[in-house]
Amino acid sequence: MKILVINCGSSSLKYQLIDMQNEDVLAKGLVERIGIEGSILTQKVNGKKYIIEEPMQDHKKAIQLVLGALVDEKEGVIKDMSEISAVGHRVVHGGEKYAHSVRIDSDVMNALEEFVKLAPLHNPPNIIGINACKELMPETPMVGVFDTAFHQTMPEEAYIYSLPYELYKKHGLRKYGFHGTSHKYVSSVAAEMLGKDINDLKIITCHLGNGASLAAVKDGKCIDTTMGFTPLAGLTMGTRCGVIDPAIVTFLMKEENLSIEEIDNLMNKKSGVLGISGVSSDFRDIETAAKEGNKRAALALKIFKHKVKLYVGAYAAAMNGVDCIVFTAGLGENAIETREEIINGLGFLGTKIDKEKNNVRGEARIISTDDSNVKVMVIPTDEELMIARDTKEIVEK
Ligand code: ADP
Repeated sequence: MKILVINCGSSSLKYQLIDMQNEDVLAKGLVERIGIEGSILTQKVNGKKYIIEEPMQDHKKAIQLVLGALVDEKEGVIKDMSEISAVGHRVVHGGEKYAHSVRIDSDVMNALEEFVKLAPLHNPPNIIGINACKELMPETPMVGVFDTAFHQTMPEEAYIYSLPYELYKKHGLRKYGFHGTSHKYVSSVAAEMLGKDINDLKIITCHLGNGASLAAVKDGKCIDTTMGFTPLAGLTMGTRCGVIDPAIVTFLMKEENLSIEEIDNLMNKKSGVLGISGVSSDFRDIETAAKEGNKRAALALKIFKHKVKLYVGAYAAAMNGVDCIVFTAGLGENAIETREEIINGLGFLGTKIDKEKNNVRGEARIISTDDSNVKVMVIPTDEELMIARDTKEIVEK
């Protein structure tokens, strides 16, 4: 069975065609600048690049070209579109309705429209991508895999905000959490690597990328996570502020005379390690600047690590213990020193890092010492594979 995984953004689209027999990635690609000048599709098959530069006025055209690239006689990997058994779509927001992935029908489409209110930047391009695929491959089953779904197991005390309760009912104002597909994937791989049943484990998963979040996964279920009603909450991120005193919002709007859009933009795009350092949102640039003596870059890193440590401590408390801490995503998989410093700061939990084992980038392995009470691991995330697995399971039902 071959499954096409689609992750549609507002002007970009990522895709992978996965053969589920052995979970091999047959082709993967990226389409950029959809609807703007300079549209470009880059497909990779066994490391070999195939580039199409052609105007793509909308997502339908982009997906048409993706399908064309996949069946291309010379550069493609399948003979005919009918070889694609199903399409798995990454969808950011599934509201409270979807705690699992779901086969897409008209009811699901209506629900996705309803959740646009909750994810105004993300759900619309996801919907456009699904509609374009439905038009081009009307007979192929489609599955929606939600970033929020894995976190739906959180108990009330974790997801209800201390605001008037009516607002939760009226606006769906609660913690949803994001990166769920990644947290689900790495927690299940962690259990496999430890040779343990996930139902007997307390795991803290640290998805540290440009966007960053932690999840507390107890007995295979998420019981808390750092992102909230939106992905702005929790950790200090590349450009997002994470947790701040909420009163700062009204203070700044008043003192700096900021509009709703301006304050939103400030917290989402100009804050985080970029805002603190004034250098970059990319952790590599910040690490370099810090090493060169840039004090604000060093401060940004210190704040980031401090927040990760705080939440690990909080989640160990929330689960009344922790067996395993997992690092994943761009920074989590690659930033050797940052990992080491975070773990060294958590010695009270019984974590001991093995410096040699930690000297690794983008490879799944245990990086704690054999006598460390808490196992610490690096596990590269694979959201596409998780989406493909869910899609397979649902269409086979
Ligand atoms: P997203 O998918 O949220 O855009 P990624 O998971 O790709 O993000 O992570 C991107 C982040 O990972 C960037 O800030 C980048 O600097 C960081 N990163 C990647 N490689 C390294 C590295 N070797 N050392 C430190 N940070 C790294």
